[in-house]
Amino acid sequence: MEAGERKGILRFCPHRYVRSVLDIAPRELWERGFRGVVLDLDNTLVPWQKEEIEAEVANWIEELKRLGIRICLLSNSLRTGRSQRMAHRFGIKAVGWARKPARSGFRRALEALGTSPAETVIIGDQMFTDIFGGNRMGLYTIMVQPLHPHEFLYTRFISRPPERLLLWYFRRRGHLKEARV
Ligand SMILES: [Mg+2]
Repeated sequence: MEAGERKGILRFCPHRYVRSVLDIAPRELWERGFRGVVLDLDNTLVPWQKEEIEAEVANWIEELKRLGIRICLLSNSLRTGRSQRMAHRFGIKAVGWARKPARSGFRRALEALGTSPAETVIIGDQMFTDIFGGNRMGLYTIMVQPLHPHEFLYTRFISRPPERLLLWYFRRRGHLKEARV
């Protein structure tokens, strides 16, 4: 396991940066000792505000479950019914209205999973919520590219430009690991 608290500007840097959740091999997570996965919803698992999940992504969730890795959806969305319905459908946990990057949402997710930060991965598409919050909590952080360009206007115009700049900086300094997990 390579989780652990990151300092300074590296708190914004994911441990891994991949194209999609499908680039994350469940077996490797298991073999590296991870037992819990905290999953962002919008633009990580499903397009923004949507509920339809691609068959491959659904299979990927099932594969994690088969290995015995516990999963908790952690969404900042105020529409908590959607997370709950998806969690129910997959037989996994959900924490809605998470207020990421606040620690409280992550704590609720860890409680639901029953795992320690060091054996838990957060997977999300946003640096300033999913990744920064996860790094602060000592989770292993994996950033994925957003599934779809359609997103909250704040995200699109306020979060993405500095995120792109930081990704460029981390890549240039050799901090960004873009291999499969
Ligand atoms: Mg997201």
